[in-house]
Amino acid sequence: MRICTKCLMPETQEKLTFDANGVCSLCATGGRKVEIDWDSREKELIKILDKYRGKAQYDCLIPYSGGKDSAFQVYMMVKKYNMKPLLYTFHHTFLTKTGLYNMFNTALKLGVEHLLYTPDKNLIKKLMYLALREYGDWCWFCHSGIYGNTMQVAVRYQIPLIIWGESVAEYRNDYTLDDFEQIDYYNFVHNKQSGIGWERFVGKEGITEEDMSPFRFPTIEEIEQLEPASLHLGSYVKWDIPAQIELIKRELDWKDAQVEGTYCTYDKQECRFIGVRDYCKYLKRGFGRTAHQASLDIREGRISREEGLALVEQYDGKRPESLDAFLNEVGLSEKNFMDIFVEQVVSPWEPVRYENKPMMGPHIENTKNPLEL
Ligand SMILES: [Zn+2]
Repeated sequence: MRICTKCLMPETQEKLTFDANGVCSLCATGGRKVEIDWDSREKELIKILDKYRGKAQYDCLIPYSGGKDSAFQVYMMVKKYNMKPLLYTFHHTFLTKTGLYNMFNTALKLGVEHLLYTPDKNLIKKLMYLALREYGDWCWFCHSGIYGNTMQVAVRYQIPLIIWGESVAEYRNDYTLDDFEQIDYYNFVHNKQSGIGWERFVGKEGITEEDMSPFRFPTIEEIEQLEPASLHLGSYVKWDIPAQIELIKRELDWKDAQVEGTYCTYDKQECRFIGVRDYCKYLKRGFGRTAHQASLDIREGRISREEGLALVEQYDGKRPESLDAFLNEVGLSEKNFMDIFVEQVVSPWEPVRYENKPMMGPHIENTKNPLEL
Protein backbone atom coordinates (compact mmCIF):
# COMPACT_ATOMS: atom_id res chain seq x y z
CA MET A 1 0.00 0.00 0.00
CA ARG A 2 1.40 3.37 -1.05
CA ILE A 3 1.93 5.85 1.81
CA CYS A 4 2.74 9.57 1.58
CA THR A 5 6.49 10.21 1.82
CA LYS A 6 5.92 13.18 4.13
CA CYS A 7 3.02 12.13 6.41
CA LEU A 8 1.46 8.68 6.93
CA MET A 9 -1.69 8.83 4.79
CA PRO A 10 -2.17 5.78 2.54
CA GLU A 11 -3.63 5.67 -0.96
CA THR A 12 -6.82 4.01 0.36
CA GLN A 13 -7.94 7.39 1.82
CA GLU A 14 -10.81 8.66 -0.36
CA LYS A 15 -9.81 11.13 -3.10
CA LEU A 16 -6.18 11.30 -1.93
CA THR A 17 -3.68 12.04 -4.72
CA PHE A 18 0.12 12.07 -4.78
CA ASP A 19 2.59 14.37 -6.57
CA ALA A 20 5.74 13.22 -8.42
CA ASN A 21 7.65 13.09 -5.12
CA GLY A 22 5.03 10.88 -3.48
CA VAL A 23 3.71 13.74 -1.31
CA CYS A 24 -0.06 13.55 -0.69
CA SER A 25 -2.68 16.19 -1.46
CA LEU A 26 -3.39 16.76 2.26
CA CYS A 27 0.27 17.72 2.80
CA ALA A 28 -0.14 20.12 -0.15
CA THR A 29 -3.12 21.69 1.68
CA GLY A 30 -0.92 22.05 4.77
CA GLY A 31 1.57 24.01 2.62
CA ARG A 32 -1.22 26.24 1.28
CA LYS A 33 -2.28 27.01 4.87
CA VAL A 34 1.12 28.64 5.48
CA GLU A 35 0.87 30.83 2.34
CA ILE A 36 -2.64 32.24 2.88
CA ASP A 37 -2.97 35.85 4.06
CA TRP A 38 -5.13 35.06 7.10
CA ASP A 39 -5.39 38.70 8.21
CA SER A 40 -7.21 39.67 5.04
CA ARG A 41 -9.39 36.54 5.29
CA GLU A 42 -10.42 37.56 8.80
CA LYS A 43 -11.31 41.05 7.51
CA GLU A 44 -13.55 39.35 4.94
CA LEU A 45 -15.17 37.34 7.73
CA ILE A 46 -15.84 40.47 9.80
CA LYS A 47 -17.50 42.12 6.78
CA ILE A 48 -19.80 39.10 6.38
CA LEU A 49 -20.68 38.97 10.09
CA ASP A 50 -21.44 42.72 10.11
CA LYS A 51 -24.11 42.09 7.47
CA TYR A 52 -25.97 39.61 9.69
CA ARG A 53 -25.50 41.05 13.20
CA GLY A 54 -28.60 42.42 14.96
CA LYS A 55 -31.05 41.73 12.12
CA ALA A 56 -33.15 38.96 13.70
CA GLN A 57 -33.65 36.94 16.87
CA TYR A 58 -30.34 35.15 16.23
CA ASP A 59 -27.35 36.38 14.23
CA CYS A 60 -26.20 32.89 13.30
CA LEU A 61 -26.74 29.18 13.86
CA ILE A 62 -23.86 27.03 15.12
CA PRO A 63 -23.99 23.24 14.69
CA TYR A 64 -22.73 22.20 18.07
CA SER A 65 -21.43 18.98 19.60
CA GLY A 66 -19.49 20.57 22.45
CA GLY A 67 -16.31 19.06 20.97
CA LYS A 68 -13.13 21.08 20.50
CA ASP A 69 -14.09 22.71 17.19
CA SER A 70 -17.63 23.77 18.04
CA ALA A 71 -16.57 25.03 21.49
CA PHE A 72 -14.01 27.22 19.71
CA GLN A 73 -16.58 28.37 17.12
CA VAL A 74 -18.98 29.47 19.85
CA TYR A 75 -16.25 31.18 21.85
CA MET A 76 -15.05 33.14 18.80
CA MET A 77 -18.53 34.15 17.67
CA VAL A 78 -19.58 35.37 21.11
CA LYS A 79 -16.39 36.79 22.57
CA LYS A 80 -14.43 37.98 19.55
CA TYR A 81 -17.08 38.85 16.96
CA ASN A 82 -19.94 39.88 19.23
CA MET A 83 -22.52 37.64 17.53
CA LYS A 84 -25.66 36.18 19.10
CA PRO A 85 -25.78 32.53 18.05
CA LEU A 86 -28.28 29.74 18.51
CA LEU A 87 -26.45 26.46 19.17
CA TYR A 88 -27.99 23.34 17.72
CA THR A 89 -27.05 19.79 18.66
CA PHE A 90 -28.17 16.79 16.65
CA HIS A 91 -27.58 14.25 19.42
CA HIS A 92 -26.14 10.99 18.10
CA THR A 93 -27.00 9.34 21.45
CA PHE A 94 -23.43 8.14 22.10
CA LEU A 95 -22.16 11.03 24.20
CA THR A 96 -19.35 10.28 26.63
CA LYS A 97 -19.26 11.61 30.16
CA THR A 98 -16.68 14.23 29.17
CA GLY A 99 -18.67 15.08 26.04
CA LEU A 100 -21.83 15.59 28.06
CA TYR A 101 -19.99 17.90 30.47
CA ASN A 102 -18.33 19.93 27.70
CA MET A 103 -21.58 20.33 25.77
CA PHE A 104 -23.54 21.83 28.66
CA ASN A 105 -20.63 23.61 30.33
CA THR A 106 -19.55 25.61 27.25
CA ALA A 107 -23.10 26.77 26.46
CA LEU A 108 -23.80 27.72 30.08
CA LYS A 109 -20.44 29.49 30.58
CA LEU A 110 -20.94 31.65 27.50
CA GLY A 111 -24.61 32.32 28.25
CA VAL A 112 -25.91 31.27 24.86
CA GLU A 113 -29.14 29.56 23.82
CA HIS A 114 -28.81 25.87 23.01
CA LEU A 115 -31.26 23.51 21.34
CA LEU A 116 -30.69 19.79 21.81
CA TYR A 117 -32.49 17.31 19.58
CA THR A 118 -32.45 13.57 20.28
CA PRO A 119 -33.81 11.44 17.43
CA ASP A 120 -35.80 8.23 17.95
CA LYS A 121 -33.31 5.72 19.32
CA ASN A 122 -35.09 2.71 17.78
CA LEU A 123 -34.95 4.34 14.37
CA ILE A 124 -31.24 5.08 14.84
CA LYS A 125 -30.55 1.45 15.65
CA LYS A 126 -32.30 0.38 12.44
CA LEU A 127 -30.43 2.97 10.36
CA MET A 128 -27.09 1.98 11.87
CA TYR A 129 -27.74 -1.65 11.09
CA LEU A 130 -28.94 -1.03 7.52
CA ALA A 131 -26.22 1.49 6.63
CA LEU A 132 -23.56 -0.81 8.07
CA ARG A 133 -24.86 -3.92 6.32
CA GLU A 134 -25.44 -2.27 2.95
CA TYR A 135 -22.77 0.43 2.77
CA GLY A 136 -20.32 -0.31 5.60
CA ASP A 137 -21.04 3.13 7.08
CA TRP A 138 -23.11 3.08 10.27
CA CYS A 139 -22.39 6.81 10.89
CA TRP A 140 -24.66 7.73 7.94
CA PHE A 141 -27.52 8.84 10.21
CA CYS A 142 -25.19 11.07 12.25
CA HIS A 143 -23.67 12.90 9.25
CA SER A 144 -27.10 13.24 7.60
CA GLY A 145 -28.56 14.60 10.84
CA ILE A 146 -25.73 17.01 11.59
CA TYR A 147 -25.91 18.58 8.13
CA GLY A 148 -29.49 18.03 6.95
CA ASN A 149 -31.23 18.58 10.25
CA THR A 150 -29.16 21.66 11.06
CA MET A 151 -30.20 23.18 7.73
CA GLN A 152 -33.84 22.38 8.60
CA VAL A 153 -33.41 24.23 11.90
CA ALA A 154 -31.98 27.23 10.04
CA VAL A 155 -35.17 27.27 7.96
CA ARG A 156 -37.44 26.75 10.96
CA TYR A 157 -35.88 29.62 12.93
CA GLN A 158 -35.19 31.72 9.81
CA ILE A 159 -31.46 32.04 10.54
CA PRO A 160 -29.70 32.85 7.24
CA LEU A 161 -26.10 32.37 8.43
CA ILE A 162 -24.67 29.04 9.58
CA ILE A 163 -21.20 28.92 11.08
CA TRP A 164 -19.51 25.55 10.56
CA GLY A 165 -16.12 24.63 11.98
CA GLU A 166 -12.81 23.65 10.44
CA SER A 167 -12.37 23.55 6.67
CA VAL A 168 -12.89 20.08 5.20
CA ALA A 169 -9.54 20.67 3.43
CA GLU A 170 -7.85 19.85 6.76
CA TYR A 171 -8.72 16.17 6.41
CA ARG A 172 -10.35 15.42 3.04
CA ASN A 173 -10.03 16.48 -0.58
CA ASP A 174 -13.65 17.46 -1.32
CA TYR A 175 -12.78 21.18 -1.20
CA THR A 176 -9.56 23.21 -0.92
CA LEU A 177 -8.90 26.14 1.41
CA ASP A 178 -9.60 28.43 -1.54
CA ASP A 179 -13.02 26.96 -2.35
CA PHE A 180 -14.97 28.48 0.59
CA GLU A 181 -17.14 25.37 0.88
CA GLN A 182 -20.92 25.83 1.09
CA ILE A 183 -23.30 23.27 2.55
CA ASP A 184 -25.68 23.07 -0.41
CA TYR A 185 -27.79 20.18 -1.64
CA TYR A 186 -25.06 18.80 -3.91
CA ASN A 187 -22.41 18.87 -1.18
CA PHE A 188 -24.86 17.37 1.32
CA VAL A 189 -25.79 14.36 -0.80
CA HIS A 190 -22.50 13.71 -2.57
CA ASN A 191 -20.03 14.32 0.26
CA LYS A 192 -21.78 14.33 3.62
CA GLN A 193 -24.14 11.44 2.77
CA SER A 194 -21.55 9.74 0.49
CA GLY A 195 -24.18 9.67 -2.28
CA ILE A 196 -26.61 7.61 -0.19
CA GLY A 197 -29.96 9.45 -0.18
CA TRP A 198 -32.53 8.99 2.63
CA GLU A 199 -34.94 7.31 0.16
CA ARG A 200 -32.84 4.13 0.15
CA PHE A 201 -33.95 3.26 3.67
CA VAL A 202 -37.69 3.69 3.15
CA GLY A 203 -39.60 0.40 3.27
CA LYS A 204 -36.79 -1.45 5.06
CA GLU A 205 -37.23 -2.61 8.68
CA GLY A 206 -40.62 -0.83 8.66
CA ILE A 207 -39.07 2.63 8.04
CA THR A 208 -41.47 5.16 6.49
CA GLU A 209 -40.85 8.33 4.48
CA GLU A 210 -41.96 10.40 7.48
CA ASP A 211 -39.44 8.59 9.73
CA MET A 212 -36.66 9.85 7.46
CA SER A 213 -37.59 13.54 7.83
CA PRO A 214 -34.73 14.39 10.23
CA PHE A 215 -32.15 13.15 7.70
CA ARG A 216 -33.20 15.26 4.71
CA PHE A 217 -32.02 18.55 3.31
CA PRO A 218 -34.65 21.35 3.30
CA THR A 219 -36.74 21.60 0.12
CA ILE A 220 -35.70 23.85 -2.79
CA GLU A 221 -38.57 26.22 -1.90
CA GLU A 222 -37.40 26.52 1.70
CA ILE A 223 -33.79 27.13 0.64
CA GLU A 224 -34.80 29.72 -1.97
CA GLN A 225 -36.97 31.55 0.53
CA LEU A 226 -34.19 31.81 3.17
CA GLU A 227 -31.05 31.76 0.96
CA PRO A 228 -28.86 30.61 3.87
CA ALA A 229 -25.11 31.23 3.73
CA SER A 230 -22.84 28.52 5.07
CA LEU A 231 -19.48 29.59 6.25
CA HIS A 232 -16.64 27.49 7.64
CA LEU A 233 -14.71 29.40 10.26
CA GLY A 234 -11.60 27.46 9.19
CA SER A 235 -11.80 29.11 5.75
CA TYR A 236 -11.27 32.53 7.37
CA VAL A 237 -9.28 31.84 10.56
CA LYS A 238 -6.08 29.78 10.51
CA TRP A 239 -6.99 26.51 12.23
CA ASP A 240 -4.38 26.02 14.95
CA ILE A 241 -5.67 23.15 17.06
CA PRO A 242 -3.14 23.21 19.97
CA ALA A 243 -3.67 26.98 20.39
CA GLN A 244 -7.47 26.52 20.23
CA ILE A 245 -7.38 23.74 22.84
CA GLU A 246 -5.29 25.94 25.09
CA LEU A 247 -7.82 28.76 24.69
CA ILE A 248 -10.99 26.73 25.35
CA LYS A 249 -9.39 25.00 28.35
CA ARG A 250 -8.33 28.33 29.84
CA GLU A 251 -11.50 30.29 29.09
CA LEU A 252 -14.21 27.61 29.26
CA ASP A 253 -12.78 24.82 31.47
CA TRP A 254 -13.18 22.54 28.46
CA LYS A 255 -11.88 19.04 29.20
CA ASP A 256 -10.14 16.43 27.10
CA ALA A 257 -10.17 12.68 27.74
CA GLN A 258 -8.54 9.49 26.57
CA VAL A 259 -9.87 8.39 23.16
CA GLU A 260 -10.03 4.76 22.07
CA GLY A 261 -7.63 3.92 19.25
CA THR A 262 -5.31 6.91 19.50
CA TYR A 263 -2.85 8.92 21.57
CA CYS A 264 -4.65 12.21 20.97
CA THR A 265 -6.95 13.25 23.82
CA TYR A 266 -8.97 16.08 22.30
CA ASP A 267 -10.35 14.89 18.96
CA LYS A 268 -13.78 13.16 18.97
CA GLN A 269 -13.62 12.45 22.71
CA GLU A 270 -17.38 13.14 22.84
CA CYS A 271 -18.37 9.92 20.99
CA ARG A 272 -18.40 6.59 22.87
CA PHE A 273 -18.11 4.62 19.62
CA ILE A 274 -15.34 6.55 17.90
CA GLY A 275 -13.02 3.58 18.56
CA VAL A 276 -15.42 1.38 16.58
CA ARG A 277 -15.67 3.94 13.79
CA ASP A 278 -11.90 4.02 13.43
CA TYR A 279 -11.66 0.25 13.68
CA CYS A 280 -14.14 0.01 10.77
CA LYS A 281 -11.96 2.41 8.79
CA TYR A 282 -8.95 0.22 9.53
CA LEU A 283 -10.73 -2.94 8.41
CA LYS A 284 -11.86 -1.21 5.22
CA ARG A 285 -8.88 1.00 4.36
CA GLY A 286 -5.95 -0.21 6.46
CA PHE A 287 -5.52 2.88 8.63
CA GLY A 288 -7.17 4.33 11.73
CA ARG A 289 -7.35 7.53 13.74
CA THR A 290 -3.71 7.43 14.75
CA ALA A 291 -2.42 7.50 11.14
CA HIS A 292 -4.75 10.45 10.50
CA GLN A 293 -3.82 12.32 13.69
CA ALA A 294 -0.09 11.57 13.44
CA SER A 295 -0.14 12.81 9.83
CA LEU A 296 -1.62 16.10 11.01
CA ASP A 297 0.99 16.36 13.78
CA ILE A 298 3.82 15.54 11.33
CA ARG A 299 2.56 18.14 8.83
CA GLU A 300 2.46 20.82 11.49
CA GLY A 301 5.87 19.88 12.91
CA ARG A 302 4.80 18.55 16.29
CA ILE A 303 6.21 15.04 15.83
CA SER A 304 8.64 13.36 13.38
CA ARG A 305 7.52 10.82 10.78
CA GLU A 306 9.38 8.10 12.73
CA GLU A 307 7.53 8.99 15.93
CA GLY A 308 4.27 8.91 13.95
CA LEU A 309 5.04 5.46 12.57
CA ALA A 310 5.69 4.14 16.08
CA LEU A 311 2.34 5.56 17.27
CA VAL A 312 0.48 3.95 14.34
CA GLU A 313 2.10 0.62 15.21
CA GLN A 314 1.02 1.02 18.84
CA TYR A 315 -2.61 2.06 18.29
CA ASP A 316 -4.15 1.48 14.86
CA GLY A 317 -6.12 -1.67 14.06
CA LYS A 318 -6.58 -2.92 17.64
CA ARG A 319 -9.98 -4.35 18.48
CA PRO A 320 -11.73 -1.64 20.53
CA GLU A 321 -13.25 -2.61 23.84
CA SER A 322 -16.39 -0.61 22.93
CA LEU A 323 -17.08 -3.06 20.07
CA ASP A 324 -19.06 -5.32 22.40
CA ALA A 325 -21.44 -2.51 23.39
CA PHE A 326 -21.69 -1.46 19.74
CA LEU A 327 -22.59 -4.95 18.48
CA ASN A 328 -25.20 -5.17 21.20
CA GLU A 329 -26.61 -1.79 20.06
CA VAL A 330 -27.00 -2.80 16.41
CA GLY A 331 -27.83 -6.45 17.05
CA LEU A 332 -24.99 -8.06 15.09
CA SER A 333 -22.60 -10.88 15.93
CA GLU A 334 -18.89 -10.15 15.66
CA LYS A 335 -18.62 -12.71 12.85
CA ASN A 336 -21.34 -10.90 10.84
CA PHE A 337 -19.68 -7.56 11.56
CA MET A 338 -16.29 -8.77 10.30
CA ASP A 339 -17.88 -10.39 7.23
CA ILE A 340 -19.36 -7.02 6.22
CA PHE A 341 -15.90 -5.49 6.10
CA VAL A 342 -14.38 -8.32 4.10
CA GLU A 343 -16.80 -7.17 1.36
CA GLN A 344 -15.91 -3.51 1.87
CA VAL A 345 -12.10 -3.64 1.67
CA VAL A 346 -10.54 -0.93 -0.48
CA SER A 347 -7.75 -2.20 -2.73
CA PRO A 348 -4.77 -2.56 -2.39
CA TRP A 349 -5.36 -3.03 1.34
CA GLU A 350 -5.38 -6.76 2.03
CA PRO A 351 -8.67 -8.20 3.35
CA VAL A 352 -8.68 -8.88 7.05
CA ARG A 353 -9.55 -12.45 7.96
CA TYR A 354 -11.88 -13.01 10.89
CA GLU A 355 -9.64 -15.78 12.19
CA ASN A 356 -6.85 -13.23 12.69
CA LYS A 357 -8.82 -11.28 15.24
CA PRO A 358 -6.61 -8.34 16.30
CA MET A 359 -5.76 -7.85 19.94
CA MET A 360 -7.91 -5.76 22.28
CA GLY A 361 -7.07 -2.09 22.80
CA PRO A 362 -6.47 -0.54 26.23
CA HIS A 363 -9.39 0.01 28.59
CA ILE A 364 -10.74 3.55 28.23
CA GLU A 365 -12.94 4.96 31.01
CA ASN A 366 -14.50 7.51 28.64
CA THR A 367 -16.22 4.85 26.49
CA LYS A 368 -18.77 4.15 29.26
CA ASN A 369 -22.34 5.31 28.81
CA PRO A 370 -22.73 8.25 31.24
CA LEU A 371 -26.49 7.55 31.51
CA GLU A 372 -25.96 4.08 32.98
CA LEU A 373 -25.98 4.53 36.73
ZN1 LIG B 1 0.97 13.54 3.21
